[in-house]
Amino acid sequence: MLHILSIENRSQVNELFAKYNPREQSWLVSDLRTKFELQQKILARDGQYIDESVLRASDLWKMLLKRLEPRLRLVSDPFARSLLRTIMDDNADVLGVNSSAEDTVFSYIDQLAAIIFHPDGSKRLDEWFETHEEAKNRWRDWYLRARFCAIKLIEEYNVITSDWITSYLQNFNELERVWNIPLIVDLSGEISRVEAEILRVISRSIDVIVLEPSPEWRKDFHFLLRPYEDLRGQAASVGKLQPVAKTEKKTDVLRFSGMLAEIKNSVGQAREWLSSGIEALSIAIVAPDIETYWPVLQSFLAEEGIPYQKDITHKAQSLPSVTRWLATLRSKSGRLSSSDLEISFFDKHESQQVRYEEFKALFKSLYVNEDLARNEIVHKIFSDQLDVTGLVTRDEFVLKALSYWNSNETEIVQLVLRELLQNATANTKLIWKEWLSYLESIVAAKEFSLEKGEPSGILVTKLMSAHSEKALYRIFLGMTDEALKVKNKTQLSGQDYFELAKDIGFYLDNPDQSDLEFELRLLAEANSKYDIYCFGATDLSGSLCSPSTFWMSLSGEDHEHLTLPKETRWDELQYSELASGRQWLDARRSEVEARIDMDLGHQPTPAIVLKDLPRISASAIESFLECPFIFAAQRYFKLKDLPDIDLDVDHRTRGQLAHALFERLTIEPMRFDWTVSELDELLESARKEKELIFADERLWQPLKKKHIQLGTRFLDFEKKWREEFKKTKTLAREKRFEFYLDPKTEELSREPIAGGFRISGQIDRIDGNDQKHLIVLDYKSSAGGITSHSSWLKNNQLQLLFYMWVLEKALMEDVKGEVIGLFYYIFRTFDRKGFKIEDLAGHLYPASKRKDKNATFEAKELYLTEFSKVLMMTLDRIRQGEVSPVPADDQTCNTCEWRRQCRAPHLN
Ligand code: SF4
Repeated sequence: MLHILSIENRSQVNELFAKYNPREQSWLVSDLRTKFELQQKILARDGQYIDESVLRASDLWKMLLKRLEPRLRLVSDPFARSLLRTIMDDNADVLGVNSSAEDTVFSYIDQLAAIIFHPDGSKRLDEWFETHEEAKNRWRDWYLRARFCAIKLIEEYNVITSDWITSYLQNFNELERVWNIPLIVDLSGEISRVEAEILRVISRSIDVIVLEPSPEWRKDFHFLLRPYEDLRGQAASVGKLQPVAKTEKKTDVLRFSGMLAEIKNSVGQAREWLSSGIEALSIAIVAPDIETYWPVLQSFLAEEGIPYQKDITHKAQSLPSVTRWLATLRSKSGRLSSSDLEISFFDKHESQQVRYEEFKALFKSLYVNEDLARNEIVHKIFSDQLDVTGLVTRDEFVLKALSYWNSNETEIVQLVLRELLQNATANTKLIWKEWLSYLESIVAAKEFSLEKGEPSGILVTKLMSAHSEKALYRIFLGMTDEALKVKNKTQLSGQDYFELAKDIGFYLDNPDQSDLEFELRLLAEANSKYDIYCFGATDLSGSLCSPSTFWMSLSGEDHEHLTLPKETRWDELQYSELASGRQWLDARRSEVEARIDMDLGHQPTPAIVLKDLPRISASAIESFLECPFIFAAQRYFKLKDLPDIDLDVDHRTRGQLAHALFERLTIEPMRFDWTVSELDELLESARKEKELIFADERLWQPLKKKHIQLGTRFLDFEKKWREEFKKTKTLAREKRFEFYLDPKTEELSREPIAGGFRISGQIDRIDGNDQKHLIVLDYKSSAGGITSHSSWLKNNQLQLLFYMWVLEKALMEDVKGEVIGLFYYIFRTFDRKGFKIEDLAGHLYPASKRKDKNATFEAKELYLTEFSKVLMMTLDRIRQGEVSPVPADDQTCNTCEWRRQCRAPHLN
């Protein structure tokens, strides 16, 4: 027989519980925590209980299914999704979509299961669509797809998920045949119409007492509570439990700046309650989704020394061994991604042979398997791909996947594979891609317990499990719209839900009527002594949140008033003058403080002690003067920021090619009749010699063509130039030099000298004539950043002055003479910009259109003297180990590639 008992307040349930006989009745609840709490109560009262004494509703539905339809296997959502994707790909023609729409189809099955599995569901829905043309256009096709796939899963694959069981049980008329224990049903707002119908059928042979929540405001949730209405109409009796006097309680309604402030306040509040003698068991911290708070909340509680009834768990995917395993499996299965390749490659000992920056530059952009050939070692390891074609059985997949497990810890892999083995049968066959996706979803969801909760600690739980008669001091976190509203992934509108219920009697779970909100309001009315409702204006990632209607409806202080969180032990530690008791902090206190002072700019960055003097080049001097930290990053920390290999060929590769081209074209005696095929050959050999790599081989041909044109234009230009300046000869190309210099004594030598810097470099080109006049040329692709020679010293643009100084000091063995011109050779326009002695114009270069009065021998001498001073001074600073992040111009920081590594105070 069916009996309904209305309850206005959950405290009334105690009266019923006192009379309940756990040996002859089953108490049906919705969640695991409440189940455990009731079991503990029975144990304390009767000294024992049987398994069926307290049941979760979901467990009862599973038992019924097992007894009625043993062929069906209960599987997890991720496994059902894997099968669903296979069905969708196999039937893409019929469905009009493929597995990429799996998430949507799965949501439709979840939402519409009650109609899909009802014997007359589709017929009734079709009739309904006749009068609801707009809804029909919006989601009928999705319904048909969902139905097609759901039936295939049940009929062909013989699987079902726990959420669909009750809908499927609608097909059985003899439920009472398989269940004979009287029930007390305490499901609050978590009961669906289908579940109510199952309970009604069962009640034909046994007593079923349904506790109907009947708060004064029940009309606000009439859709959610409709299943109780139905049951009332069929019940043999409808009664009420004795009203319980409501206790007085204190309520605070608080607004915080964000979730972190909510957490700090809760921990501070719990500490105050504990200090005032309140038992930990009487305190509860509750949130709609407590897991979002838990990682931070847990560490605050631990520091505070407050015990809690919640396990500390970790996600399987946070373990490096698991991440590496999946990355290797994906990389070997043709699912190449730069991050997976990096994770799996640096797990191998061969990775010691490849510099990390080079690896990053080579593989930041990956498109096809052939891209692996950019590095021989990587290619060797990963080119051997798994055969992912055809269907693979469960055991074949497990065997293969396990062969890539590369860690001595096996507990976690056992945990993951156990779930796979439980869900899939030995003869389940899927394509490799699906097995891998399934494995990934298991890993994403799997948690393992690191530490057990303390049973006598404070209660930390989600809203749907928060009913507890012990918890009298409660803190409700996350009172936001975002946390309390359910997201609807289907095209069904709120109106559709109401009309489906009104017209054809299907009360689907309506996301607009959130059971979280219902539960929250019930909890708010339950007996307690002190309740605090908290709203944080931002979540932990800083996104704005809006307050829930419930929180706004509570009377309290001004809702706009921002509350400062209470102090926690962490705050005390930070402000404490006393030694913290942490060994590491005491030992490192002065070091940490000095570092903070440095970061704040109160102290200069200390110089580093150099074991060996670094090698110096023109660009190194420029880098140091630009900012000593840039120099340190490149020379001492050996950091590199190499250009990425991608579909845009980088400047460095283009530059290398142009330099190689000009180097060969200027070999004396210079020829101006190069044919296209000769240039082609030249570029091919230059590419080989420089080992240039392209993201896609198809990029090479257009780039080569462009450089053939560049070569032809270069030859035309040079031919005219040499017709005008007949004495011009190219004396050196890509000319290397090396010498040693002691900046203290200014001693220079081609042989190593004690305490001297090794200085080297390479000059792009040196032209000259028979009068031993020299001009230095430096190829540039564009004129960007080139300033006039009068600003070179001021702007630390020292490269050409440096080369002039080297030549004038006769540090280049086979090129000697007097430098009369220094030019940047811009090969896009064939312009030469720089310094030239005007008096000698006409020999190796033309006269300026407007006379440059600073282009004299005297100016050249001044440049040499000034440069020499700058060089000696800079070398001395380098020798002293200066590495301060002090740029010559703060603007440099805006584009500096080392900005993330540098701790310059002005960037704070
Ligand atoms: S960001 Fe600025 S201070 Fe830091 S290294 Fe670069 S230039 Fe120097």
